[in-house]
Amino acid sequence: MKQKNKVSLLLLVLGIISYSLCLFTTTEFAKQDQINHLTALKADYALLDKVSSRQTLTAWADHHQMQIVTNSNKPRSDLQAYVHKLLPQQKMDDNLPTYITYYHQKKYLFCLLDTTKASPQKVIVKRYRSIWSIANWLILFSIIFGVIWACIIYGQRTLFNEENLKRWTLKQKLDQLLSNKNENAYQQPSKKQVTIVELQQAVALLANKMDKLATDNFLAKRQFKSLMKHLPVGVMLLDHNGNVILHNQAMAVILGKNISDEPHYFDQDITTERLQKMIRHTMKQNRNHHQEIQLTNDTNSLVDANVIRITHTEERVQRQVIVILYDLTEFRQVEQEQIDFVGNVSHELKTPVTSIIGFTDTLLNGAMNDHEQSEKFLKIIKQESLRLTNLIKDSLTLTKIDQSTQNKLERIDLRKLVNQTLTEYAQASKKAAVTVSYQIQGNPWISSNKHTLTQIIQNLTSNAIKYTPPKGKIALLLKHDEIDNYLKLEVSDNGIGIAPEDQAHIFERFYRVDKSRNKKIPGTGLGLAIVKQAVQALNGKISVTSKLGVGSCFKILLPL
Ligand code: ADP
Repeated sequence: MKQKNKVSLLLLVLGIISYSLCLFTTTEFAKQDQINHLTALKADYALLDKVSSRQTLTAWADHHQMQIVTNSNKPRSDLQAYVHKLLPQQKMDDNLPTYITYYHQKKYLFCLLDTTKASPQKVIVKRYRSIWSIANWLILFSIIFGVIWACIIYGQRTLFNEENLKRWTLKQKLDQLLSNKNENAYQQPSKKQVTIVELQQAVALLANKMDKLATDNFLAKRQFKSLMKHLPVGVMLLDHNGNVILHNQAMAVILGKNISDEPHYFDQDITTERLQKMIRHTMKQNRNHHQEIQLTNDTNSLVDANVIRITHTEERVQRQVIVILYDLTEFRQVEQEQIDFVGNVSHELKTPVTSIIGFTDTLLNGAMNDHEQSEKFLKIIKQESLRLTNLIKDSLTLTKIDQSTQNKLERIDLRKLVNQTLTEYAQASKKAAVTVSYQIQGNPWISSNKHTLTQIIQNLTSNAIKYTPPKGKIALLLKHDEIDNYLKLEVSDNGIGIAPEDQAHIFERFYRVDKSRNKKIPGTGLGLAIVKQAVQALNGKISVTSKLGVGSCFKILLPL
């Protein structure tokens, strides 16, 4: 049964009980009233009896619609006979002189006039007026009572319906929130009853969902913060007034200044006029901008700038501007270096190729017949071809060394590696009349990229042999520090040395000290550039100390 009907039924039962109680109370009041009235009449009779005649008393009794019956052994009427029968039953005594009972199917009040000891005993007999004798009033009362109670039940049902409608609407809202449905969709109110328990369950589910949402939101915020922090791109968010409301660390680095977390106008951080103009234009004209610009601040970076207007239906998000800066300085530098490198390679290749073509032409044009000259030219052609090969080889090596080098690690025995390298250069050192020695300190087993490490040792040893005059000494020191986990490599010689002004350039591609060129010492100018790039690929550091005419020492520190 519906809750509403249950309550109505309960109210109906309550109404019936109340109605019955009312009737009962009224009956009791009426009864008591008649008894009191009779008691008063009894007192009147006592006074009248002394002073009045029998006729007067009878008239008085008739006036009050009652009879005074005297007890007698020889009753002369039915009523007298009834009283005679009733008195011995002791239904009336001095304490309770009134008795109500049926006589000839009608209710009567019987009341002792004197004490029980009086003889003969007299009894007042009066019709008992029950509330049914005032049927009109009773019907009216019942109607009014019924109407009031019907109103109460109707009110309860109406209130219940309203209450249910409120609950239904609330439940509907809760269900929409739980299922993420469109909240504007109209739904015909249902008459289905929504209980408090159902509402409690929906609220509990919603609370769970809110909890989950709060956790998700917290995680999303953390992820967003972490993303912003590690993003290599500078990001800045401006509100519709141009105040900075969000930025990341990369933006501060690109702009070369600390950006306050407090909201402030963007031009405090962005001082480059062109970028300022782009932002203002985007804010006013609602147009996005994308340009490569040179910042005119301390960093002087070349950046790819994106100024974007956020379009959103929500007022507070609408008209926000996001500024994204990507630092292109390094990228453009590398790009330029690559262009320069290709240019330099072409230029360097041109010299031996021109030389080879020139001498080949000379030979073909007749010099071939001159044995002495043709031998001399062929030697030059061979020498230039060798230079060409070395140039190509070094250029390829340089382009091959990259960051992935450090990922290809393997166990290396330093003794074996150094021995192999020195064996390869034994002939060259013998020819140059220099002595090469080496020393390995610490555990000879290391973990590194064998190919790259070999390249470093080879190039430095080869240079030391090339630039050390006869009788010179070359020493290799390899120290493996297992506590701090690094390898120190030193290649020192007592050769021609490098002037301080050249030391700053020897690691550049194709840079050759004039002396080397003039003395016709073969070389491509790429050896040290390869070493530097190889050291960088292994996350190491390289330095040089050198003195003209005394010797040079190349020091390398490689983390393991
Ligand atoms: P190259 O092919 O000319 O040797 P590198 O890049 O290896 O090219 O060296 C660049 C320049 O540095 C050389 O031209 C040379 O003048 C100088 N250099 C390199 N190593 C030494 C050294 N051990 N002693 C003196 N000069 C050196």
